[in-house]
Amino acid sequence: MIPRLKPAIGAAEFAAILRPGGARVEEFERAFAAAFGARHAVAFPYGRSALWAWFKALGIEGAEVVLPAYTCVVVAHAIALSGNTCRFVDVSLRDYNMDLDELERAITPRTRAVLPTHLFGYPLDLDRVREIVADAEIRYGHRIFVVHDCAHAFGARWHGRLVCADGDAALFGLGISKMMTAIFGGMLTLNDDRVAGLLRQTRDSVFRPAGLRKALSRRLYLFATAAAFSRPAYPFVRWLEHETSMLDSMTKAYHLDDIIHFPPDHLERMADVEARVGLTQLTRYEGIVQGRERNARHYDARLRGVAGWVLPPLVEGATYSHYVVRVPNRKDVIDRAAHRGVDLGELIQYSVPHMASYRIDAADRLFPNALAASRQTINLPVHTDLSVRERDRVVSVLSDMALQEPSPAALPVR
Ligand SMILES: *Cc1c(COP(=O)(O)O)cnc(C)c1O
Repeated sequence: MIPRLKPAIGAAEFAAILRPGGARVEEFERAFAAAFGARHAVAFPYGRSALWAWFKALGIEGAEVVLPAYTCVVVAHAIALSGNTCRFVDVSLRDYNMDLDELERAITPRTRAVLPTHLFGYPLDLDRVREIVADAEIRYGHRIFVVHDCAHAFGARWHGRLVCADGDAALFGLGISKMMTAIFGGMLTLNDDRVAGLLRQTRDSVFRPAGLRKALSRRLYLFATAAAFSRPAYPFVRWLEHETSMLDSMTKAYHLDDIIHFPPDHLERMADVEARVGLTQLTRYEGIVQGRERNARHYDARLRGVAGWVLPPLVEGATYSHYVVRVPNRKDVIDRAAHRGVDLGELIQYSVPHMASYRIDAADRLFPNALAASRQTINLPVHTDLSVRERDRVVSVLSDMALQEPSPAALPVR
């Protein structure tokens, strides 16, 4: 079975967690800030807790925060749990990012922050975001902060500019399924010295230091993940995932059930051992992006025009954290590919304003593209561990399937 995701972890990461002593969280923060063009980086146990702490540090509460309807639900959780209200914007089916025409309409007198997400690594138009927010600031006479969600877009560039270096802050997730990982963890980068000071103060007073137990369990987690994603174990792990509820109950605390909550350890700081893995990953980072881009270009060249499937765009400066294709009959495609040894996934299989916890009346009418994306997308393996042979196998399995489709219903592109 060709795994759909595979963290780029190897000997260097294992050495980093087994060597006694070594670098600490502060060193990872400094290196991270330098790598992504920021004056400050502040580390947290999760990306979601970084965002939550940023609201606390700035005293933003009881306000509206604008975010895309199609994004990771933990971002909405951070907004809700900080005492703010989510205001959703539909996405474009071209690159799955927030539709900027809709953004303009979503900003109200109560808006204090906007979270543009560079989903799947596709950079949003930074100038338009700035312009829309600046106009709204004039209209409503108060400051509106911009926090770029770069969880899929570490180092993505729009017209040569780092998207994470724009706006007031940038948010990163460092969990095991992200482009680079610190086992778990999240980071917030920013340039304002005062706000960075407030954020550190909040982190250091509200979050407790990482305990020994965490340091140990994180090491075990990294080993377990590496084993689970190895070629021999993967079919079994996938079977567990699809056919039993065992993994589900193990990961429930961290996962995406439709309940607004954070994992139990969300107030325990990043452990030094996680920072050491993060530091190692930083040195590999360019290679990770290049490998993904190569895979994306290859899929584009080989799969474009094969059938009624909609391929994602190739965009200069994108990081290709995921390669998503829209198909009319997702479940069928996934099952048939699995049968032939290719694991395809459903990445974000929900539209947030359609979920019970965030339910908005008339969501179907207001967020049709988010709904379509949530129902039709599959993601192909683009990880750097994919061999040329495996990539060719993915292409041939998918091409066969696409050709067999009875009469592929054309999917709308907007
Ligand atoms: C992963 C992710 C985050 C942050 O995730 P954590 O799991 O809290 O570290 C934020 N935004 C998006 C789009 C993500 O995919």
